[in-house]
Amino acid sequence: MDNWLQKRTQLTPKRLALSFHDQHWSFQELQRQVNGLCARLQPRLVKPGRVAILGNNTPALYMGILALQQLGEPIVCLNKHLTIPELQYQIKDAQVQTVLTTQEFLPQLQAAAAVKLLALDQLEWQPQADWTAQPTDLDALASIMYTSGTTGRPKGVCQSYRNHWTSAMGAELNLPVTKSDCWICAVPLYHISGLSIVMRSLLYGMPVRLYEHFDPQAITQDLVHGQGTIISVVPYMLKKLLAAKHEPYSDNFGYMLLGGGAIDQATLDQCEQKHIPVIQSYGMTETASQVVALNPADAQRKLGSVGKPLFPVSLKIANVSRPGEIGEILLKGDNLTPGYLNQPQRLAEKTTASGWFRTGDLGYVDDEGFLYVKSRLTELIISGGENIYPHEVEQVLNQLPGVQESSVVGKTDATWGSIPVAFLVTDQVWNLAEVQEFLTGKLAKYKFPKELHLVDHLPKTANGKLQRVELVKWLKKHE
Ligand code: ATP
Ligand code: MG
Repeated sequence: MDNWLQKRTQLTPKRLALSFHDQHWSFQELQRQVNGLCARLQPRLVKPGRVAILGNNTPALYMGILALQQLGEPIVCLNKHLTIPELQYQIKDAQVQTVLTTQEFLPQLQAAAAVKLLALDQLEWQPQADWTAQPTDLDALASIMYTSGTTGRPKGVCQSYRNHWTSAMGAELNLPVTKSDCWICAVPLYHISGLSIVMRSLLYGMPVRLYEHFDPQAITQDLVHGQGTIISVVPYMLKKLLAAKHEPYSDNFGYMLLGGGAIDQATLDQCEQKHIPVIQSYGMTETASQVVALNPADAQRKLGSVGKPLFPVSLKIANVSRPGEIGEILLKGDNLTPGYLNQPQRLAEKTTASGWFRTGDLGYVDDEGFLYVKSRLTELIISGGENIYPHEVEQVLNQLPGVQESSVVGKTDATWGSIPVAFLVTDQVWNLAEVQEFLTGKLAKYKFPKELHLVDHLPKTANGKLQRVELVKWLKKHE
């Protein structure tokens, strides 16, 4: 297949490709920038070795990603929030020798590893008409992306072009973008939520409005003035955008694509009240973005569901005999990773004898084929033979006055096997009896936390996901 940016430029050279504040590039202009960048980069990449990106969502980083694609270099995506030991580990694990970044991140990278650092904001280049780009081989490695590390050390996931292609096609077959759509990218380019927008832009010929940081006020203004019609968000961003919305979005507004983790019902209800269509979705780094999505037409009818598997994706629940039964979510399809970096056995361990990928997530499918995600297998609390899904309890705890966040994890118990323990980040002091009283009538008694801790903050991954595993460790230490 032809190189994706080059093919797109041949097809629709004049169409808007990228905008950032008041700067705009058509595909042809973007192509010329990327050609010029390729010429600057090629002699500077250390070989043998891989190339990584690390930085904010700037046009330079965006162009860096496209240049690496043109050079036939798989992109190692490094999270800018990683600590130095975490960076050290990923740089070594992925055999990175060169990092494309910006000046701001040089100290952090210099402290982490002796690799070549190319600051894109220092590396000047001239637009150039031609460059002989590498064709896109669908089975070639396009990116190496680390998982969020919610359940342990992040794993390097290999993503092929076929994975990205299938992911983009699945999304398009579900909700086709139109010529007037423009996708706001305020999620990180180094995460699958961001990188998948770049891929969609090339494949659909769709403009991307890039944000260096997530800025709810500025994005709201863009949405009010019709400067973007679709936006990818994670739960935290959705809440901030909800709070910032005081006037209607432009008529051309399409929807927010919500992914990354579970959302509470109260937030979805507020979206409904404020007329914000939300597409809930489910996916993971291993599936190169969403594999299941819930369209607004079904949103009210199927509250709490993440929708139906997209066209290229097969989904089933392990070891169940009828709809509604909970089990591990299994997937098949061409967006599934060809494997984990340097851990050839890991994919095999996560694959059933008949070739299904075991997601490690628990859920059920209803009689109409809609998926409901309940929890991760490792986070399920089994107390006296009853299953407790932490998220369900947290949703209710979050309704306690003054509570900003909560988390529930299992603690080993001689009588019950495991008991639920709650952690609250709260402005108001609560004791266990008061919490239990609040839960009465809202949750079955066996789900009530039996122990309570008031804390300043909850442990989070570099992507901002709650790390229940750290709370479990903390409980073990303080037994
Ligand atoms: P690690 O694999 O390192 O523990 P991670 O699984 O959090 O980290 P990601 O690939 O970023 O890394 O996240 C995918 C996971 O996020 C899914 O397996 C699932 O557990 C969770 N998730 C994604 N979308 C949803 C959703 N809509 N509802 C509930 N959970 C979701
Ligand atoms: Mg995972």
